[in-house]
Amino acid sequence: MNTAMNIMSIQHQLVLAIGEETDLKKMIYQFLHLAGQCLNATNSHVFIMQDQQNTPVYQLTEEDSLQHFLSFPSRRDGINTLLSQNLEQLANQFFESDATSGIIEQSSGLYYVFKLGHFGVFIIERKSALSREIQSSLPPVINKLTNSCIASINYRTMLFEINMRKEVEEQIRYQATHDDLTGLYNRMEVQRCLTKAIEDTVTEKKTGYVLSINLMNFKNINDAIGYHVGDKVLRQVADRIKKSTDKKTTIAIFNGHEFILIIDHLPANKMKSQLIIGDIIAEIIHTIERPFELSEGSFSLSCFIGYERFTDNKKNAQDIIKNASIAMYEAFKKSKDKALAYKSIMSEQLNDHIRYTKEIKQALINNDFELHYQPQFDHLYNMVGAEALLRWNHPTRGYESPAVYIPIAEESDLIIDIGNYVLEQACRDIKRLRQRTLPAFFQQISINISAKQLAKRDFVSNVIGMVNKYQIPPSSLKIEITESIMMGNLERSIDGLNTLLKFGVTCAIDDFGTGYSSLAYLKRIPASLLKIDRSFVTDIHLDQSNKAIISMIIQLAKSVNMEVIAEGVEQEQEVSCLIELGCYQFQGYYFSRPITFNDLLKFKH
Ligand code: C2E
Ligand code: MG
Ligand code: MG
Repeated sequence: MNTAMNIMSIQHQLVLAIGEETDLKKMIYQFLHLAGQCLNATNSHVFIMQDQQNTPVYQLTEEDSLQHFLSFPSRRDGINTLLSQNLEQLANQFFESDATSGIIEQSSGLYYVFKLGHFGVFIIERKSALSREIQSSLPPVINKLTNSCIASINYRTMLFEINMRKEVEEQIRYQATHDDLTGLYNRMEVQRCLTKAIEDTVTEKKTGYVLSINLMNFKNINDAIGYHVGDKVLRQVADRIKKSTDKKTTIAIFNGHEFILIIDHLPANKMKSQLIIGDIIAEIIHTIERPFELSEGSFSLSCFIGYERFTDNKKNAQDIIKNASIAMYEAFKKSKDKALAYKSIMSEQLNDHIRYTKEIKQALINNDFELHYQPQFDHLYNMVGAEALLRWNHPTRGYESPAVYIPIAEESDLIIDIGNYVLEQACRDIKRLRQRTLPAFFQQISINISAKQLAKRDFVSNVIGMVNKYQIPPSSLKIEITESIMMGNLERSIDGLNTLLKFGVTCAIDDFGTGYSSLAYLKRIPASLLKIDRSFVTDIHLDQSNKAIISMIIQLAKSVNMEVIAEGVEQEQEVSCLIELGCYQFQGYYFSRPITFNDLLKFKH
């Protein structure tokens, strides 16, 4: 082979060795390997600019430096000794110089040095000199190597950036579709999943269900112990639901603690699918009701579940989820069944409810509420006080019983607004009453307080503020609470009542006998009066068991130093019987119905 052919062949082989490889290390390894053979080199080396993480770079910053990248042969012994001696220095010195190639003679051999653009150095180590022709054939090959290195570094950076971007996009997508705390889907995503599930159900002729699960007592954990514990419990509930359902079940959470489940691909046969969903629901209820053991203590929750079946695409995802929630709400309200299937009448009732709530709001604005007063008497027919009872003078329906709208107002914060109205109006009326000549034994006006009001942090200061505003003696106001305050934050309520008692406002327990009271509970509540519920008083003279109950209540009250008053007294015989049993205060139609404030002023006793 003549020299020219030989040179072309070397050039060709070296260029081929660079090849199309995109991985920098592999590419340089192949090149060094072949360069060693073609150029009869004892060793060959590449030095490349690298950053602090040893990643090759070609756009330099202050922190980057020229570092050894690869040698061939890659025998550790010789090369490492050489490198540690002076090869690194040699490469660096050459890199700093203006030359693009050069030959450096040292005792260890001849070093042919070439710059790889502005980012590296390639060194061939030989025992003897290369022919001039071969030397001059090398720059195009080095150029090709340089360009391929740049392409490879670029490619790597690009890949890195693409992956980074993908990761960020994935993160954004995850955040947009998941709940931070539990990692479950959020509202938007569950709607999307359900839309797809509805389509699949139709094409595959299957059945699906949407379950809405709401946790009871959860708010108490949050309020009384703190959000950090509430969060832990929520995560555990999410895990338990996941474990108790099929992997294909879509689980989402929204509105804080409402879980939505999509269970699809169930048999089209209604009976069969109902049996399956019944089992799933039972399992979920069971798993949620197991106590949660945390380092902060053991907590118990219960849940209510509403569900809606879908077999076709007549209703959209949003409506199906809404219906399941309505059924859940109905189950919660009735508190009879833990799980209820959606029925269209539930929506009608809910709409009535919403309309009614709006009307209450409007009534507060329009000043349509009034306070009426029902006088209370002792056994000598002295008026000893009166209970303020709310009256709504509805523009079309007329007066309506608070027993209807108070429970509705209690479901929202409207009860707080109503409570504030009652408190202020009662204090105002007490002031006006005191400007008249009061019956000799008249002690106070009592107002009804709902559990939600009592649980408010500013309740006590509100009462004290109002008494001070109207400059009435605190003892002229009594508050009536029911046993249902047991359900809220009992400790805070008791503290509040004690503060009020110290201030001079006393407390009565209303509707006594219908709740959960025990003697232990009664002893802790700073109340001075027990109001015996009407249900025990009615026909007491004819009903031996009611008589026995009332007798027991009276004994109980005496044992904890409380007074008693009987509610709903309608007949003279009831009065005599109550007196016989030791109850000397009464409230009821027999004495007087609730009357307007003006009529109370005229009441002569
Ligand atoms: P309550 O506090 O136990 O009030 C006594 C209820 O029994 C009143 O019904 C009263 O009109 C009725 N009543 C009194 N004597 C008799 C009687 O001899 N026979 C019969 N059949 N009923 C009698 P009302 O005014 O309809 O109030 C019902 C409930 O609504 C109240 O029961 C109370 O729990 C609640 N309520 C009334 N006003 C307010 C208020 O301002 N705030 C709050 N939170 N609840 C209130
Ligand atoms: Mg009352
Ligand atoms: Mg009552």
